[in-house]
Amino acid sequence: MSVGGDATGVGRAAVPGCPFCGIVAGELPARVIWETDLVIAFRDIAPVAPVHVLIVPRAHVPDALSLDASHAALLAELAVVGRRVAEAEGVASSGYRLVFNVGEDGGNTVSHLHLHLLGGRPMAWPPG
Ligand code: AMP
Ligand code: ZN
Repeated sequence: MSVGGDATGVGRAAVPGCPFCGIVAGELPARVIWETDLVIAFRDIAPVAPVHVLIVPRAHVPDALSLDASHAALLAELAVVGRRVAEAEGVASSGYRLVFNVGEDGGNTVSHLHLHLLGGRPMAWPPG
């Protein structure tokens, strides 16, 4: 479950020290390319593909392990914004990858849920 409040993040305080809460609040810089009531999408600061965008809930959901059925609308929004960003970035036809990194083995480093959108080059499988 999320840490209180609703999935929109409306009326919910940012988590101190969280970089993505800082971006959502406009307190930290970011190259924002898409915004809705529920999510914000901005370019990754250290891209690993020609297109590397993070799609982030405005609410501080810690990670994918924190998700439950109450996040259904948020999850739909993340995927739909992923589609819109892919179209806007010109990778919808060539293909792209959507990734949640979870936990240590998953390579998660920022504890605020984010969906990576990677595109613009062929992706290997299995991932490293
Ligand atoms: P993960 O390893 O899945 O937690 O991914 C975190 C991602 O956030 C990494 O790809 C980082 O490069 C990216 N990142 C960290 N801080 C920022 C920031 N301030 N603005 C944009 N991207 C960031
Ligand atoms: Zn946060």
